[in-house]
Order: sequence, then structure tokens, then C-alpha cells
Amino acid sequence: MKTNGDHDHMSCIVCGTPQTAGLAGWHAACRGCGYESAALQGAINEKPLGAPVDEDERELGLKALRQENFRDIVELAGALARPGAHRLLDVGCAHGWFLETARERFDVLGIEPDAVVGGRTLARGLPVRQGYFPDALQAGESFDIIVFNDVIEHIPDIRAALDACHARLGEGGLLILNLPNSAGFFYRLSKTFAKVGWRSPFERLWQKGLPSPHVHYFRPANLERLVGRHGFACVHSQELPSLRAKGLLERIRCAGGMSGPSLYLQYVAVLCSIPLLRLFPSDIIVSVFRKT
Ligand SMILES: [Zn+2]
Repeated sequence: MKTNGDHDHMSCIVCGTPQTAGLAGWHAACRGCGYESAALQGAINEKPLGAPVDEDERELGLKALRQENFRDIVELAGALARPGAHRLLDVGCAHGWFLETARERFDVLGIEPDAVVGGRTLARGLPVRQGYFPDALQAGESFDIIVFNDVIEHIPDIRAALDACHARLGEGGLLILNLPNSAGFFYRLSKTFAKVGWRSPFERLWQKGLPSPHVHYFRPANLERLVGRHGFACVHSQELPSLRAKGLLERIRCAGGMSGPSLYLQYVAVLCSIPLLRLFPSDIIVSVFRKT
């Protein structure tokens, strides 16, 4: 893990204000618009084969939540896309869960940089190409809808990615960004903990130490401002639940390594907190942009 000493002197990619030092050496924030960045470096495809078992288990714990949210996103895409829209690209499709939901309605293609994960998804019969966006695409290939599910916040040169989306979308095409929310309850709580010296929840939410850590943290307003400068208009933005009752027990089991009474006790406690959490901003947002 390398940190960049000049990180806190960089200009904000959204509003141009010089960023100030954040809650860790690798973290910086903008006082102008609230955008946050991390000088964390990833290592996709550099890990030994078969190593990311923990990560896979964690992913399985999240599967039910993601699938519910993906159904909402496919419905949004169907409602907002222009008539006749059918070509959908899923950038960073990972295990193909979104592709599985979206292919009931669209002609789908996935791109996945992680060769092991992408290979497994391909073996399950889903249309996946290994590589990065947009290099993995063929010349002249274009789409009606491009989706990034928990992906755009990992891309260091996000401005180049947004330009590539504009170039690869047909007229009136949709760009759908599903990503963490810096105004979310759990993220803000993690910052409060970090300020008093307990950094692990904050590092976890940035995915520090994982093969592909987060490098950006947006909220709806600064995301709309950035994407708007790349030839898009925001047509819809909403929160998605970061906790749902469905799959919750599996998720807690995978995360905590607990069993027996303490597992069920925590399950009941979290289950009861779900209605209360709805009173606060969610940690997951989805924003839909139309190419102008
Ligand atoms: Zn800013």
C-alpha cells in the first residue's frame, strides 16, 4: 500500500478547491463540495490464485441484498430508457448477479478485470469479457445503457471513464451509477469513530487493503455536478437500502465468524434496527444520467 504525500494538496476533481488532509494519511476531503478521495492502490490479478476465499464468502453474504437492489435498478432502467433500448453493458460485473437479473429484460454484456472471478462467471454461461473499461470493448461497439454497480468509486481516472461512457452510449443513452454515499449513516458513523482513534470501520468502508480499494466517495449533489460536466443530465437519484431483512443472517454469519446464541442475538438486534435506520440517509445511492 503506497500513499501519496502530495495527496492533500490536490485539487478537488468536482469543484477545483484544494483538498485538505482527511482522517488518515491516505484520505483527503474537499471543504467546497464534500467530495472525498483516497490515495489507496489496488492489486487486481496480482494476488495468488485461489486466495480470495474470505472475499467470496463476504460476497455471498451480500448476495441477497444486492439481488434485491439489482431488481430495483433493472426496473429503473426499463422505466427511464428510451423506447427500443436493449443493449446493456455492466462494467465490473464480478459474479454476474446483475447480468442474471438484467438479461430478463435487456441484451447484456459484462466486463470484469479480475480474471479468476470473470472466468467463473463466464463458465456459468454469462456473457463476460475479461479486461478494463473501455479497452475490453471492440471499436465502434455502443450501448443504450451502461451500468456501474459498486465500481465507479474504484476507478482512479473517473473523468476518462465518464468520457468513455459518453462515447460508448447511443443518443439519449443512460448511465446508471450505483455507489456508496458519503452522506450515509454508517459512513458518517465510521468517520466519528475514526476521529476518536478507532479506524477499522472507516478503513473497511474504503476497502483499504483489499485488491481494489475505493478511491472516491461521493454524495448525490457532488456526483451530479461531476457527471454533468461530461455531457450528462441527471434524470433520477435515490437511496437503496444498505440493510434488508432478506439474507441478513447469512451476512452476519459471514462477517463475524460467530455461531450459536451470539449470532442469533446479533441478528435480532440488527433486524430490529432496520426500521430505525430508514430514518437516516442510506449508505447506498443510485443515480441515473441521460446522455445529452
Ligand atoms: Zn470539491
